[in-house]
Amino acid sequence: MPISPIKNWRRRRWLAEPFSEHWVEILEKKFPFYKKLDDEDRERFHNHLTIFLREKHWEGAGGLEVTEKMKVVISAAAARISRRLPISVYDRLTEIVIYPSHYLHPDKEDSIIWGQAHNFGTVVLSWDAVKQGISVPDDARDTSIHEFAHVLDIGEGSFNGTPLLERGRDYKAWFHVMSRHFARLQDDPVSGCLRAYGAQNEAEFFAVATEAFFETPRQLKACAPDLYEVLANYFKVEPV
Ligand SMILES: [Zn+2]
Repeated sequence: MPISPIKNWRRRRWLAEPFSEHWVEILEKKFPFYKKLDDEDRERFHNHLTIFLREKHWEGAGGLEVTEKMKVVISAAAARISRRLPISVYDRLTEIVIYPSHYLHPDKEDSIIWGQAHNFGTVVLSWDAVKQGISVPDDARDTSIHEFAHVLDIGEGSFNGTPLLERGRDYKAWFHVMSRHFARLQDDPVSGCLRAYGAQNEAEFFAVATEAFFETPRQLKACAPDLYEVLANYFKVEPV
């Protein structure tokens, strides 16, 4: 999807502004990974975060008022996983809806809602779940990362656990490794290195594996080195 000249111009203008000191404070306080980014990675992360935060439509629901801090925290999760991918990966996503808590979806761990059959999408997050996700940064559970992995997944048009890969030849290794570990998790959802929710279907598998890749990379690499490898190849980062 080619980007419009106006959108492009707006993005360049935002990125020409210095990155907010206030945002840096929030990031340093909330995200241990942030301080470990090297200069290049930090710049990419800042750019992705800025465009995400400024371009998406933010909507509070259930009486919640969206604050700047909420936007920074949620945009940081999106930018954390996308920072080495093309800046356009979230273009289909237009709106973030935030509920105060997840009681509104009692029967559904997965709270993602897509627009109908068009090039747009909405992610619904519970602020409680977002906070819980970052309060324990190494438990392979992070609702924001999970939902944004779904957004990347749908980047190539279908919601099937396979995002758009850079090269045609990457798909072979991807399918081979992902299907093997997905089948393994279905056979034995409890003793592996991924949480059982990933056994639901391929899309959930990718989202759950992404949470583990960013939150517990060492464990994932030790337990499933080939899975770690294809994810590192896709995200172009080495969290270990
Ligand atoms: Zn999900």
